[in-house]
Amino acid sequence: MSCVFCKIISKEIPAEIIYEDSDILAFPDVRPKYKTHVLLITKKHLASVSESGAEDDAALGKLLRVGAELAKKTGIAEDGFRLLTNTGKNAGQAVSHIHVHLLGGEKLRNI
Ligand code: AMP
Repeated sequence: MSCVFCKIISKEIPAEIIYEDSDILAFPDVRPKYKTHVLLITKKHLASVSESGAEDDAALGKLLRVGAELAKKTGIAEDGFRLLTNTGKNAGQAVSHIHVHLLGGEKLRNI
């Protein structure tokens, strides 16, 4: 298994897990682009949202709901935050395991 995020799930690669349940987990991005930069990933290996099916709806929904909860817990929700997922090369997706970025803690660049 060569997927870096699968190795975080199996604890072969260390990460500071800030949320975990049976479907997803969350940990800080190793190269944060903003003051708060957390990644939320599914435990099931899916390369991106393009690979997901209806059976993944619950886990994908959880990425957003838990992302919003973590925004509240980390104190960035009031001023606003962004949840986004890059898909494919035009979006700059570097890791082929579905993940949602939670960004905030400062003014975010407009997209
Ligand atoms: P993306 O460009 O959307 O594929 O983002 C992948 C993100 O994963 C980047 O922001 C990387 O900094 C982050 N990343 C890669 N390896 C690790 C790791 N071992 N622990 C935490 N974050 C990582």
